[in-house]
Amino acid sequence: MSGQSSLAYPEMKELFDRNDQWAESVRRQDPGFFPKHYPGQRPEILWIGCSDARVPETTIMGCQPGDIFVHRNIANLYSPQDDSLNAVMMIALQNFKVKHIVITGHTNCVGCTTALNVSMLPKTKATTPLQKYIEPLATLSGTLFDGNRPPSLDLLVEENVLQQVKNLSECDVIKNDWKRRGTDGVRVHGWVYHLEDGTIRDLNCTIGPPGHIPGQRMVNNYF
Ligand SMILES: [Zn+2]
Repeated sequence: MSGQSSLAYPEMKELFDRNDQWAESVRRQDPGFFPKHYPGQRPEILWIGCSDARVPETTIMGCQPGDIFVHRNIANLYSPQDDSLNAVMMIALQNFKVKHIVITGHTNCVGCTTALNVSMLPKTKATTPLQKYIEPLATLSGTLFDGNRPPSLDLLVEENVLQQVKNLSECDVIKNDWKRRGTDGVRVHGWVYHLEDGTIRDLNCTIGPPGHIPGQRMVNNYF
């Protein structure tokens, strides 16, 4: 397969220039940064968020590269058949022993808007990848109707996060972690990021392994 240079495209060249400037400024401010990070990572958090360009987890949490292990997809969904996310969780839990998994939805989510719109139409067979992917979310939206009135987008965003926390609590990867690590097993949290003002709200739905003590600071003994 032959190809051309990305740099032939001005907008791509601009990105490369930005990368050069960023790497240079990091090296100037902290010469040890890249040598320190190269050998490995030790994130304490796995973030499961939406692909939305406005919700870059490391930026909005004021974190640095290396702080957060990440999986992002449309509308921050999880299903037991999702082996991409299952694999991310296995690496996060087995290799890095992350203490926390956070599912973070956000306001004005295009995935949730799509599902909401689908739930307002007569049911048809899902055929495209997007239709099939969004189907469980559209079904959830359908359960939130008040008579003929569809749920608000904000309500669907919140209920979706709660549903994904539930889905995770029932999945084998998490259950196995709880078996392996006992009361030190991973905690799963549900949050919503508000695009309106940049703040994150906790949905107070944190779950953990049987017998865990809520709120106790967790020490990662692995490293
Ligand atoms: Zn979204």
